Amino acid sequence: MIETNLQEIRSRIEKAARRAGRSPEDITLIAVSKFQDQGRVEEAIAAGVRDFGENRVQEAQAKWPRLLERHPDITLHGLGALQSNKVADAVNLFHTIHSLDRPKIAAALAREMQAQGVRRPCFIQVNTGEEPQKAGILPADAPDFIRHCRDGLNLPVAGLMCVPPVEANAALHFAFLADLAKKQGLEKLSMGMTADFETAIEMGATHVRVGTALFGARKAL
Ligand SMILES: *Cc1c(COP(=O)(O)O)cnc(C)c1O
Repeated sequence: MIETNLQEIRSRIEKAARRAGRSPEDITLIAVSKFQDQGRVEEAIAAGVRDFGENRVQEAQAKWPRLLERHPDITLHGLGALQSNKVADAVNLFHTIHSLDRPKIAAALAREMQAQGVRRPCFIQVNTGEEPQKAGILPADAPDFIRHCRDGLNLPVAGLMCVPPVEANAALHFAFLADLAKKQGLEKLSMGMTADFETAIEMGATHVRVGTALFGARKAL
């Protein structure tokens, strides 16, 4: 089941890439395994998935350390909003962080990477829909924040990430994020989920985060 879904998603990624004149190899599929138990994660690993995404540090800590020991070629991506008191654990566990979204977290990430002697590529999350309840730096504050993270704190900023509002035309948000990244000289774009990853690829996504299409529906938050 997961293997069939994976083949289907890969084929859709490839077609979307070709439509956009891009190479499918330039797009990383992140399997979002939040709320999926160890058995389903192992099924995905057996099917060949090597990039996984988790939202919560605590859930990831319960699930991943043993799996990572057995599969050292896996890249684990942290996707969820970070609390300051979870940053040390996040830096320890996640290879890449997609939810850098405010100065306090930026400072904590810089401090922890230094303390642990690691560099974790970070995506700066932009709240492109300016939704009050959603994580992410506001678009107007993004250029200064990006500069602060890169030049002030020397963080390894890889690119930008967004989660468009549910009802929105996602393409507009993806285009905005791509344009902002280009202006800032950032190469990577973490955008696109089950509902819109093909659109995201056509707008330049380098990392798509797909849960439901791969694993099926998960329990609600
Ligand atoms: C849950 C989640 C996803 C995956 O969503 P699906 O619609 O199930 O593909 C992607 N990104 C983030 C940040 C998420 O929280």
